[in-house]
Amino acid sequence: MADQLRFCVQGGLVVGGLARLPDDPCEYFPGNTGFLTGCNNLKCPHCGETVRSGPPGLIGDDEVWRHAPGLFELSDWASAGYLEQKTPSAGRLYACKCRAWVERTEHALADPDPDPMMGPDLPWRCSGHPRPDLPVEFEGFHLESPNQAAGLVEHLLGGTPPRDFGDAHYRGPVHWLIWTAEYLGNQDSTRELCRHLAEQLDPDNDPALTGRIISFFSAIPTAPFVDRVLVYAEADPAQLCVGYAVPERSFSPSFVDVVEAILARREAEPAKVENTLGRNASALLRKALLVPDRVFSRAEFGRPTALIEEEDRLRSSGSSAQNDEILTKFAATLVEERASLEHRFLKYPSGAKLLDGRDIKWLSDNIVAMEQAAKGRWESVLTCLRYHAAWDPETEHLLVLAVGRLIESSLVSKEAIRDWVSSTGRVHDAWLLPVNGLLE
Ligand SMILES: [Zn+2]
Ligand SMILES: [Zn+2]
Ligand SMILES: [Zn+2]
Repeated sequence: MADQLRFCVQGGLVVGGLARLPDDPCEYFPGNTGFLTGCNNLKCPHCGETVRSGPPGLIGDDEVWRHAPGLFELSDWASAGYLEQKTPSAGRLYACKCRAWVERTEHALADPDPDPMMGPDLPWRCSGHPRPDLPVEFEGFHLESPNQAAGLVEHLLGGTPPRDFGDAHYRGPVHWLIWTAEYLGNQDSTRELCRHLAEQLDPDNDPALTGRIISFFSAIPTAPFVDRVLVYAEADPAQLCVGYAVPERSFSPSFVDVVEAILARREAEPAKVENTLGRNASALLRKALLVPDRVFSRAEFGRPTALIEEEDRLRSSGSSAQNDEILTKFAATLVEERASLEHRFLKYPSGAKLLDGRDIKWLSDNIVAMEQAAKGRWESVLTCLRYHAAWDPETEHLLVLAVGRLIESSLVSKEAIRDWVSSTGRVHDAWLLPVNGLLE
């Protein structure tokens, strides 16, 4: 069914001899699973052929492209005198009728940020992967009907991957769940899998289970039943940033990750995020912005990759009390960044752009309430409004109105607002004139 074809992200990957290149035509690379997967259905728009690939390590030299037409027709590549069987890490050979390529690591064929030195610069593109029909065979699990999906979830959470991923990184149930849902695609079994996961949310859970559920829905923010995750989180917006440690994740996932993922998807592909879903995510974020950021322990955040790297770096330069102090401060910064809604949605352009026109109108209308709830939040709110004013001059009045409300509330001194204006305003900002007028 053509409408059920799924496509690898970034045009598909060509992979070296150590990475996965599955035989199953239904397998593809959705980009969010942590398992790099080579595309097994690449087509060449020039010769019209499906690209062939060789076994790990059977490669030619850098001039192998010269053999392109003959190579494609040759049934047994092992018999080609100009190819040599090396160790799998040496690479993998690909060929269509007009091109040949040896991939040594892995590269996306339509990489938005191509690698000028090692990148392939090939016209090949993923031409789609069908959705698998039931029954589907996973490692140790035979899925025959959608009502076995709950059993499949338990099977994966119990420690068996759906496929033999070999030495793939990031092994663990979170990645297996995401992989399985993406593999099954849009069908009843996936719906049941998502339903079962969302229904598992419970305050008495082992934190790792909650963390895995959050992690799953933030990787697939448009999954069925993601709205139930929002409803669950809405019961206590003050807990939105609490981390739930998951062994296979360097950061402990928190419910705000799901909110952020939905808003990011809404920003990137508005058509894919239903209005109600985006609005529910915004509504939850707004509730949480009326509660002070909580201070979290380092334990709630696992050991972020950045922290592990910093620890390694300092250890190699010899351990000392000074190093310990640096690490403690660094860890606190990472925790603060992740736990702070202001940091994630207001203070920086990357987060601020996730908010839409309705959200920033709300920010402007409610700046006083936010300041009452969390002292000092006004500054982050104004900063967010300033980004939007720069992106869309039609929203400049929201910034002016917010400043007016702040002054009227007497919660913040005019002097403090003046300091903010002089450190952030640019000469050409149209809002400067009315804002300075208010501050006189
Ligand atoms: Zn070709
Ligand atoms: Zn593909
Ligand atoms: Zn079977």
